[in-house]
Amino acid sequence: MNLDAARLDDLDLKNKRVLVRVDFNVPQNEKGQITDDTRIRATLPTVREILAKGGKPILLSHLGRPKGAVVEKMRLTAVGERVEQLLDTPFLKLDESIGPKVADAIAKAAPKTTILLENVRFHAGEEKGDKALAAEFAKLGDVFVNDAFGASHRDHASVCGIARLLPCAAGRLLEKEIEAFRRVLEKPEQPFIAILGGAKVSDKLKVVDHLLERVNAILVGGGMAYTFLKAQDHSVGKSLVQEDQIDLVLQAMMKAERMGVPIFLPQDHLCGTRFAEDTSAIVSGIDILEPFLGLDIGPKTATFYAERIAAARTVVWNGPMGVFEWPAFRGGTEAVARAVAACPGYTVVGGGDSVAAVEQAGLASKIKHISTGGGASLELLEGKELPGIAVLSEKKAR
Ligand code: AMP
Repeated sequence: MNLDAARLDDLDLKNKRVLVRVDFNVPQNEKGQITDDTRIRATLPTVREILAKGGKPILLSHLGRPKGAVVEKMRLTAVGERVEQLLDTPFLKLDESIGPKVADAIAKAAPKTTILLENVRFHAGEEKGDKALAAEFAKLGDVFVNDAFGASHRDHASVCGIARLLPCAAGRLLEKEIEAFRRVLEKPEQPFIAILGGAKVSDKLKVVDHLLERVNAILVGGGMAYTFLKAQDHSVGKSLVQEDQIDLVLQAMMKAERMGVPIFLPQDHLCGTRFAEDTSAIVSGIDILEPFLGLDIGPKTATFYAERIAAARTVVWNGPMGVFEWPAFRGGTEAVARAVAACPGYTVVGGGDSVAAVEQAGLASKIKHISTGGGASLELLEGKELPGIAVLSEKKAR
């Protein structure tokens, strides 16, 4: 993995128009109100530093999936309002992200003004990584900063395309994310424990494969655990199972055995009879019989996992231990969240749901690094190079 990106310190920002790719893809309710502004807050240090160094920050972001057309409810209007509230310096939101009018508005904006352009995905070329669109974006700036960790696994025009055309560097948020994943993937203090959960085993098997070479144990929970248990000939009742993944799961288990790295599976479960919030919860042993299905790890497993986590010096967690959206099946995920928060070692939580669980439990401040990118963090844990980071490193190496 090459994570040697140039940093903000490597760029001359004074009197420069600084294009900054940010990830303001924040959740909004039906009324368009922002329900979680973590991603906006997380990038403010970069914006403030650019302002302090005499640059004019010009922010580019995507929001949702407008698929190359203008979709009114995916405009960055509410995002702009929140940025303006959080910054106490001049701010301007534009209704386009390319073109002479945008260039003109940028030129006329007073020094120290932060400018937010419109949703870059309103242009069909963005997700295709179109070079002509990247050139249009690049005309608006003198230098480029990527602070959008959550979009860095995408070879999109505003993520990679601009970086290829202008002097570029990682922003402070991206730099923090890079350092965190480098710390766990390249020089983890032992014991290193990975906790993997979530619905689909297919999303996590490449992570298991890559982490087996680095960790001392993997703790498995959530829906993905039942495909593992079924592969070991346990009964799983009506639990979620991906039959087509069983061979791959067996291969992963054989690799773990060869390497002497235990993959721990739940030894008890909290079950219901229906996949519904109001199903009554009962504890079962390792085998789940019909008509039950597993919806959370059981109390014995939660205690065992918490003990493992307490003894770790490095922890990576991605994916809930059960259907944590339903209070009756939240206990396992909460127990893991508490254990990770209490762990004195270096702890990294990634993936929207595990981050939401940590925040719901009021434990976010106790986690050493909370990643702002679900998909991007999973790809790093799979050992993949993220194109948005690779392009910064390549430019630095030249
Ligand atoms: P993922 O997006 O793969 O990280 O999965 C997160 C989702 O997995 C959450 O919405 C959970 O409700 C769901 N999940 C966790 N455990 C289970 C389970 N035992 N059965 C079904 N879904 C689950």
